[in-house]
Amino acid sequence: MSGNPYPLGLRLAGRRVVVVGGGAVATRRVPALLDAGAHVLLVAPELTPALRAHADAGRLHWAPRRFAPDDLDGAWLVQVAVDDPLAAASVSAAAAERRIFCVRADDRAAATAWTPAVTRHGPVTVAVLGGGDPRRAMAVRDAVRALLEVREGALSAPAVPEGTRPGRVALVGAGPGDPELITVRGWRLLTEADVVVADRLVPGLLLDELRADVELVDASKIPYGPSRAQEEINRILVDRALAGKFVVRLKGGDPYVFGRGGEELLACAAAGVPVTVVPGVTSSIAAPAAAGIPVTHRGVAHEFTVVSGHVAPDSPASLVRWDALAGLRGTLVVLMGLKNLAAITATLLAHGRPAETPAAVVQEATTGAQRVLRSTLGAVAADVLTAGLRPPAVVVLGDVVDALGGAGPEGIPGGGSGSTGQS
Ligand code: SAH
Repeated sequence: MSGNPYPLGLRLAGRRVVVVGGGAVATRRVPALLDAGAHVLLVAPELTPALRAHADAGRLHWAPRRFAPDDLDGAWLVQVAVDDPLAAASVSAAAAERRIFCVRADDRAAATAWTPAVTRHGPVTVAVLGGGDPRRAMAVRDAVRALLEVREGALSAPAVPEGTRPGRVALVGAGPGDPELITVRGWRLLTEADVVVADRLVPGLLLDELRADVELVDASKIPYGPSRAQEEINRILVDRALAGKFVVRLKGGDPYVFGRGGEELLACAAAGVPVTVVPGVTSSIAAPAAAGIPVTHRGVAHEFTVVSGHVAPDSPASLVRWDALAGLRGTLVVLMGLKNLAAITATLLAHGRPAETPAAVVQEATTGAQRVLRSTLGAVAADVLTAGLRPPAVVVLGDVVDALGGAGPEGIPGGGSGSTGQS
């Protein structure tokens, strides 16, 4: 077949698409069809477990048999994902007879339609055809994707002048520290923001890449005490959104883990400002992981409890049953716990948690300044002072601390009781 391909965006919602074959190719093709809202009929005697899961969940219809030409009746498109050239040719013939476009994974020359290499960025879809060479298409697609990741804000922001579109707020988890640990959606919204209100714990490199015209509000520089400051942050979010801005409230870790995300959501809701929440990688799991500590491990811990240590255990303001936590066998992760660490460990010991329980402290996890201290429940408070560890740090207590024997993903420099080291 000669002539250049004619690019189209097929709108498949509610339209039947037939996929013939149930192997690796079909497994890769089906999700985008489902995402487009197509009614997928999958014809194959056997399915991969992933396809089977789609069928079991009712997301597509599975005909557990070989292809028959009338499978194509009523279809708008067919994708052939079988190796057998004769079987594939019979699908092609049935498709041609019915004037249905036919994508052939096995034979591009015999296909009447080609699937492009694709990258999606919110509302924008980029599709690349490589003139018959799929690897060239993928290379171009990757290059375009890299460009979009930098410039996407400008490209994907709605083409409506500021002030005439309704504002909104996104509460975005920035992850624990490494700028690569923000989610794809969080990153995309950040590149679209008119205003970014960032926490102290937010990775600086993320802010480095903001467009020059973005208003950056450093929430940690707001004067007044903590509760007035929070009111002030809420006010900034609401005011900017009501002025038509897209405001990203960027928060360390996950917005709802000791992050006051709930308060900000309520403040926006009360003012009638639409809010979306993008979860983040929380330091309560990522900091232990960065030190080679899995928060659960088969045969070691079947639970992990995340608790804030910012209120001393004996304070009337404490909402934590430290006595009950002392009775648990599993992993205890303490955030904001350095200041009260001596009182916390003393309380856990007094209520029966053994002094030799392994302990670790991870400071500035997933950043270049990460430090890891390994100790025991009985010794960790003193060891933290000796080593001069500072917030932000996560304290991990439980047998999981030793579960991987100090053989973390990147190893644990200086691992072993009481020592510290850079990771
Ligand atoms: N929402 C955040 C937690 C906010 S509370 C999250 O989900 O991670 C702030 C506490 O989080 C800090 O006092 C510290 O205990 C912990 N923390 C945040 N980032 C950290 C990091 N990179 N390394 C170690 N602890 C961190």
